[in-house]
Amino acid sequence: MSHYDVIVVGGGPSGLMACIAAAERGASVLLVDKGDKLGRKLGISGGGRCNVTNAKDIDELIAHIPGNGRFLYSSFQHWNNRDIMAFFEGLGIALKEEDNGRMFPVSDKASSVVNALVGRVKELGTKIITNSPVERIIYKDGKTAGIELKSGATHTSPCVIIATGGQSVPQTGSTGDGYPWAAAAGHTITERYPTEVPIVSTETWIASKELQGLSLRDVELSVWNPKGKRVIAHRGDMLFTHFGVSGPIALRCSQFIRQVQRKFDTVNVDLAIDLFPDLSIGAVESELRHRLEQEPRKAVKNAIKGWIPERMIPLLLSKAGIDGDTICSGIPKASISAFASILKKFVFRACGTRSLKEAFVTGGGVSLKEIQPKTMESKLMPGLFFCGEVMDIHGYTGGYNITAAFSTGYTAGKHAAELAATFRN
Ligand SMILES: Cc1cc2nc3c(=O)[nH]c(=O)nc-3n(C[C@H](O)[C@H](O)[C@H](O)COP(=O)(O)OP(=O)(O)OC[C@H]3O[C@@H](n4cnc5c(N)ncnc54)[C@H](O)[C@@H]3O)c2cc1C
Repeated sequence: MSHYDVIVVGGGPSGLMACIAAAERGASVLLVDKGDKLGRKLGISGGGRCNVTNAKDIDELIAHIPGNGRFLYSSFQHWNNRDIMAFFEGLGIALKEEDNGRMFPVSDKASSVVNALVGRVKELGTKIITNSPVERIIYKDGKTAGIELKSGATHTSPCVIIATGGQSVPQTGSTGDGYPWAAAAGHTITERYPTEVPIVSTETWIASKELQGLSLRDVELSVWNPKGKRVIAHRGDMLFTHFGVSGPIALRCSQFIRQVQRKFDTVNVDLAIDLFPDLSIGAVESELRHRLEQEPRKAVKNAIKGWIPERMIPLLLSKAGIDGDTICSGIPKASISAFASILKKFVFRACGTRSLKEAFVTGGGVSLKEIQPKTMESKLMPGLFFCGEVMDIHGYTGGYNITAAFSTGYTAGKHAAELAATFRN
């Protein structure tokens, strides 16, 4: 048994940053992880290049964290994306900005980011124990007192930081172990659900796989509630799969499917694709009319090739009730209008999403009502801190979750070290 000022459980981005912030303030720190490697999920984020943060301003960052992003205002005020960039540049990791503010290491290698973080943790003298699952947090006399490992060994500390992540991609070590420890301290754990996850549809044309593998570039995907109200829309790229839709905008829309399902007690949720988000319906209709007039003797299915994704043409024409072999001059006006409407709003049904294990990010977690936003300390158990995805916070991919993890990790580490100092003095 050994004693530390601060114990951090979990060596993902939030836990590693918590160690650094605490050790930089002179605290003796123990980091325990159950895996053999630290930062495993960070190492596969951003397509294996590690999307370290996002360069957008704070309001925009928060807008891209639809799962309780506002809780982060306080943490972001003190340590935010600018600090994350300065931190990595200070460690010699040059960063570059890509589309939508996404920041990556110039090396394009996540390992450079993980190695720099772990290197800094070691340089500061943190004691690291890997391959050691923590079994429970020890609470004594209404206060945090330490941890017990699965092996039975115990370590004492007045400050323990839970940084165990969510439940997505469990092979990286995030298996939801932190929730029962928080519950044992009296915390509410909100229901967990998959976010940033592919969407499932039972449409016959999905089951027949006729569009499988087709990517749509720069379209708009929207989610609709049963009252006909648009809940959310995202613009960008998407992909048809053998079970539904995936790709960046499908992932972003996925959490809203569950929201509609729950709110309206329904399974099926309508989605719509706008193939021409920059054009009004009138402009799409006149472009269509123009193309048909240019090629009066051609079959309609051939006249629109090159303008509309070719593999979608038979499906879209059949939805508009048009036989693709009809020559352009034979298409009635009403059918042209109906077809233009479908190009602007091609509706199909989703029946859910893929599982939490397959999700990039876990929705739900330790309720924020019982956590101090300025310090990340529990409002219920003195000396217990939280950071990262174990909390009920989730953002879009694009560096937003990682920014939240680093910022809350820094805040928790700093305040845990300050609290520990009061016990030393
Ligand atoms: C494929 C993929 C791509 C992603 N891409 C992006 C992206 O581009 N942008 C973005 O913002 N986010 C992305 N994310 C999400 C982001 O990686 C996570 O939100 C972030 O890693 C969460 O950090 P964390 O420190 O809270 O937890 P984690 O990174 O999950 O780390 C938790 C750590 O706790 C350890 N642990 C768990 N239980 C125990 C225990 N009992 N004892 C000891 N240790 C334990 C685990 O071994 C693990 O090391 C992606 C996720 C995935 C899966």
